[in-house]
Amino acid sequence: MGFKCAICSKEENSLLKVNHVKLGVIKICEDCWSEEYNKGNLLSLKGGCDCCR
Ligand SMILES: [Zn+2]
Repeated sequence: MGFKCAICSKEENSLLKVNHVKLGVIKICEDCWSEEYNKGNLLSLKGGCDCCR
């Protein structure tokens, strides 16, 4: 089973969970991560791990 990048729709086994400034919490591939990171579109995830929400 694969997950799709929320931005480019590419299927990746390891997606990075990010807090996107426009899209909210999404999972994206490393390519999109560095792209969005360079644009300053990524906010730091608050609240730490998934289990504590
Ligand atoms: Zn992507």
